[in-house]
Amino acid sequence: MNATARLNHYGITATPEREKILDLLIVEGTCSLNRLSELSVDVDRTTIFRMVRLFQLYGILEERIEMNDTKVFRILPWDPLTIDKNPINFHCKECKSVLKLPWSKSILRAIPASFCVESANLELYGICPECQS
Ligand SMILES: [Zn+2]
Repeated sequence: MNATARLNHYGITATPEREKILDLLIVEGTCSLNRLSELSVDVDRTTIFRMVRLFQLYGILEERIEMNDTKVFRILPWDPLTIDKNPINFHCKECKSVLKLPWSKSILRAIPASFCVESANLELYGICPECQS
């Protein structure tokens, strides 16, 4: 699945910069922030950092520390099941976008076992990572 399709799937607006950075991450697999900056000189480092945080929030990539203490970002395997079923909607009050976040099983663990949950609809309100600066 390419960058545009992935962004659309999560409800993230597919800007040319986001597509470029996600494409680079998909091709590279694992990439440091420095390497991402080198490969995309037309996108400033702060913007790249915010995008990486956004992708992390969605479970698109994870942060890892390499043996030489370098922080790298690794693309996670595509797993549509984590989001297709009742996504959590996050409403950003700054940019007015609605971002679909994956469910965490720990949310359901908070419900007493005597309740049989058949469906869920969770709406969150706040400021998305990109609007926090
Ligand atoms: Zn926002």
